[in-house]
Amino acid sequence: MLKPFPPAAFPSLLALGVLLSSCYQVPVTGRKALDLTSDTELAKVSAAAFDEVKSKHSRSKDQARIDQLQRVGGKIAKVVFWDMPNADWEFVVFDEPKQINAFAMAGGKVGVFSGLFKIANTDDELAAVIAHEIAHVTARHVHERLSQEMLAEAGNVVGAVGLMGVGAGSLTTSTIMGLYGSSASMQMLAYDRAKEKEADYIGIMYAARAGYNPEAALTVMERLEAETAGTPSPPVFASTHPPTSERITEIQAALPKALELYQKSAIKPAPTVLK
Ligand SMILES: [Zn+2]
Repeated sequence: MLKPFPPAAFPSLLALGVLLSSCYQVPVTGRKALDLTSDTELAKVSAAAFDEVKSKHSRSKDQARIDQLQRVGGKIAKVVFWDMPNADWEFVVFDEPKQINAFAMAGGKVGVFSGLFKIANTDDELAAVIAHEIAHVTARHVHERLSQEMLAEAGNVVGAVGLMGVGAGSLTTSTIMGLYGSSASMQMLAYDRAKEKEADYIGIMYAARAGYNPEAALTVMERLEAETAGTPSPPVFASTHPPTSERITEIQAALPKALELYQKSAIKPAPTVLK
């Protein structure tokens, strides 16, 4: 005979229901992730945070690099269209030659610090970095982290959803800037290793689908390793990420699949004869 649920079980059942309906499926990997945030709200606040970054860093005047970022970013944006249908894309090169860094924010805001070109020179290499950063966004890693913080703050899912309802406007530019580290240095958001590996995996698949050689991800990693060797404080792109050697191994494992996608992306209706 079925016993009726004790009354105390109802809130947790309700929480479970809310939790199940607040799951998000990460593109490419298919992982189910918690998302209690409002994507529209997060995109709005991220756009404001991006404006703040733009007001604090001067823009690069290197037209070749600016064009390169637009070209590469535009192609990746097309590939991720269904993962970010409402994105209002913006790609900006900042004049920060000492910073080997790049970032992407919800809503399609992408920044590259000019120091990044030390390790990412060609279109394929830049695509590897940009696709990695955009993968953090389509995988909603920031959404997930905010959701976990909301949960921790509210004590349970029902409370967190309540918080979300009343406090949608409480998500501020400074919350976002806080997540990304100090707004002055725009430090790389410290994700955990699993998230970094997920972004690496999704990123090389995106780059390959956009027609960029996914093997470039390895070149970038190797240069990053060379660049960081013997440095007391590694560049930001490296400092919060898993060890480079670990990332290289994972990228190598994902390469056969990525190369397949890359070859498919190269199939054009009319053959191009290169002379
Ligand atoms: Zn990352």
